[in-house]
Amino acid sequence: MNWLSDFTPPGIKKIFRQREGDGDQLWSRCPACGEMIFKKDLEAAQHVCPHCDHHMRIGPKERLDALFDNGTWVKQDTPDVHDDPLKFKDTKKYADRLKEYRRKTGEKDAMVIGKGQIDGLGVVAAVQNFAFMGGSMGMALGEGIVRAAEIAIADRSPLVVFAASGGARMQEGILSLMQMPRTTIAVQMLRDEGLPYIVVLTDPTTGGVTASYAMLGDVHLAEPGALIGFAGPRVIEQTIREKLPDGFQRAEYLLDKGMVDQVVHRHEMRMTLSNLLRVLMKFEGSAASTIVLPDHSDEESDDVLEAEVVVSEELPKAAE
Ligand SMILES: [Zn+2]
Repeated sequence: MNWLSDFTPPGIKKIFRQREGDGDQLWSRCPACGEMIFKKDLEAAQHVCPHCDHHMRIGPKERLDALFDNGTWVKQDTPDVHDDPLKFKDTKKYADRLKEYRRKTGEKDAMVIGKGQIDGLGVVAAVQNFAFMGGSMGMALGEGIVRAAEIAIADRSPLVVFAASGGARMQEGILSLMQMPRTTIAVQMLRDEGLPYIVVLTDPTTGGVTASYAMLGDVHLAEPGALIGFAGPRVIEQTIREKLPDGFQRAEYLLDKGMVDQVVHRHEMRMTLSNLLRVLMKFEGSAASTIVLPDHSDEESDDVLEAEVVVSEELPKAAE
């Protein structure tokens, strides 16, 4: 509010608010380059800016729709946990915060588990929703990871986790920190069964999540520009009183330092995971055969199809 808006009569304020609202429904502004993007175009591009390639944060539904064959997947139940065990209250009651985020996202907590196929191979995927209290790791999320591992083991499927989190959920105190060993055990369960566990690090992956299951993958993929670290850069700068190098804690920096195996564009994520899982699962049919048949008629993911076609041209068409 500036001095001018203080003098504006409420009726006129309302008109302007409505106009802004209408615009919001049709257009989005890229937070990186500031360009206005038609929302339908942005959705078709999986929320990657067509001007500067900035990867915006997306929710579990968009993520799973783009990942699985024909956008078809089955949502898996996550275990119920005790809400607000500490009766925690900061500026607001934790119970009220939970209610608010449940209403906003339509989800129980910050993790959604989906089961489906990627080029015919059964895969379990767990996605953290940054829009639900910053994707924070509380009991529900810990149970979610354990549950996802159990489903993967029962199905003899690989598990892919899309991490996005501000860290542990402080409203659950020590109970949230206990999810670090719990989720570590879940990863170990998969390892004992010889099933692949892939982590896709998305913007941002920080705190207790980075310090547990997000850094325990057999393979670590990351989206371009994603912030990945334990403490944020500002906290580190204040502690060590030094200027941090450019791009510090970004996906590309971590790739250079060996913390990440590959930085993968969102449009190529499905194909990369498909190839990787096929090799790790020794799935029938060569990788080439899966890439040559990009007939999953996803109208929305034209860009993915293009990417797949480009690669397939370089490969022998052995499987046709
Ligand atoms: Zn942009």
